[in-house]
Amino acid sequence: MTTEVSEAAAARGAAREIVSYDPSTGEELGRVPLGTARDVERAVGRARAAQGAWAARSFKERARVVLRARAIVLEEMDEVAGLVGRESGKPAAEAMAMEVVPTLDLMQFFARRAARLLRPEKLDIGLYRFLGRASEIEYRPLGVVGIISPWNFPWATPVGEIVMALMAGNTVVLKPSELTPLVALKIADVFERAGAPEGVLEVVTGDGSTGAALVEAAPDKIMFTGSTVTGRRVAEAAARRLIPVVLELGGKDPMVVFEDADLEAASSAALWGAFANSGQACASVERCYVHETVAEDFTRRVLAKVRALRQAARDADIGAMSSERQLLIVEGHVREAVGRGARVLAGGGRPKGAPERGFFHEPTVLAGVDHTMAVMREETFGPVLPLMTFKDEAEAVRLANDSEFGLTASVWTRDLRRGRRVASLMEAGTVMVNEVLYTHGIAQTPWGGVKQSGLGRTHGRLGLLELVAPHHVHVNRLARVPDPWWFAYTPGAAALFRSLARRFASGSLLQTILISPQMLGRLRELKKRRDD
Ligand code: NAD
Repeated sequence: MTTEVSEAAAARGAAREIVSYDPSTGEELGRVPLGTARDVERAVGRARAAQGAWAARSFKERARVVLRARAIVLEEMDEVAGLVGRESGKPAAEAMAMEVVPTLDLMQFFARRAARLLRPEKLDIGLYRFLGRASEIEYRPLGVVGIISPWNFPWATPVGEIVMALMAGNTVVLKPSELTPLVALKIADVFERAGAPEGVLEVVTGDGSTGAALVEAAPDKIMFTGSTVTGRRVAEAAARRLIPVVLELGGKDPMVVFEDADLEAASSAALWGAFANSGQACASVERCYVHETVAEDFTRRVLAKVRALRQAARDADIGAMSSERQLLIVEGHVREAVGRGARVLAGGGRPKGAPERGFFHEPTVLAGVDHTMAVMREETFGPVLPLMTFKDEAEAVRLANDSEFGLTASVWTRDLRRGRRVASLMEAGTVMVNEVLYTHGIAQTPWGGVKQSGLGRTHGRLGLLELVAPHHVHVNRLARVPDPWWFAYTPGAAALFRSLARRFASGSLLQTILISPQMLGRLRELKKRRDD
């Protein structure tokens, strides 16, 4: 384990703590408290107490805090990337590219645009507007948002959700992964220095028990990112309290390479898509299907590029995996595939000469795989690129969709019409044509999966709408005129209702005008009853 509960603290009877280690060297990085249910309740209490005043601030005032936080991140970006790299095992350059850059962009986007994205909306209510009615939706904050986050993008995942939640007028309680608590404390520090009032962003470090306590503390929404198994547990616990959840879960994302693809670009993309972050991205390329006529050429290019990758604890292309547990899962998948006939074309296990206490796995390319193997069905979450061939478009789509997951998918072809056509057949929350993995980094686009990859969305307007309660206000400007559907249900009323069913409910103004004499008769009837 990269992080563990300190036995020494437990033995001393002291508050339990979590020890954070560098997974590429085994060096201890620091200790933080293992938050208890009481700690969580207090944090939720403080967040609740702070929420009214935070929501009462204008978008501009809230944006000022977010933009000050952004300025601090910009000033300290090397420190942030270095810390993310040390605590998660990824190269600092990759932490900069995949975590710091996208969050800086996201912070400016939501700080500047949240007001417009959440502007009250007038609704088109069809023929009811001719009855003097109007409807408007106002987007109100939910209250306290609980964020439970994983270790693989310990900075980008929570920061994005914190910024969206705060801009929408909520306060936040964050429970980060037990493997990356120091990154979370840095996030808290940045927002505190940016002037976020007490209680607006609470961070409770801890493990799964702390996460479970956060759900029990009944925030107004849970934004959960993590494995499908834990996501299901969170959803069950939240359902008991009727707390809405967004679940960003695992993936087994396919990449389809057609015979007309730019193989030079596609092979580089496959490499980055499968091996960036040591393959520990929810949207990593986990299955690659190549048209049989170009498979040899594509594979040759991939293997040449794998040989050029540098793997080391610092300043390399590929770092360590985040935990021994994850390393063992990857080894298990490779071992099982090889035992059932897969061929290892590159890598295959722990690199020779790697630091003894580091959790490294070589970038690995497999051929001869099929859909009975775990490496093609379960989330591997490691630097493994299994290659399979297909004969035609229909087979490619069938193979890509043959998965219980559906987070992202990728299609490679020079024919963009074909790319869009195939994209529309893919069962995934996001399909990229001639791209892989990266759209979580685009603040404007929605992120989320179908099937076992999750529920709801984060990022973009759809993600922001997850963090507000739509508040519908309906106004009747003709209150003096009684509604024709009110009591009493006279024979005349029953006849009118039949006409409403036939004509008004057709949505046609012309049809509705035809029943105006009947309508006026009914109104006279109601008026007479009132006057009597
Ligand atoms: P995990 O499910 O083990 O843990 C995620 C978080 O949940 C951690 O903070 C953990 O402490 C907490 N937790 C554990 N048990 C809990 C419980 N019973 N109640 C509440 N919280 C609990 O996931 P992980 O191993 O940290 O992350 C890797 C997984 O995350 C992968 O499956 C990956 O695909 C997924 N992921 C998905 C996305 C996405 O956007 N879809 C993004 C990143 C990671």
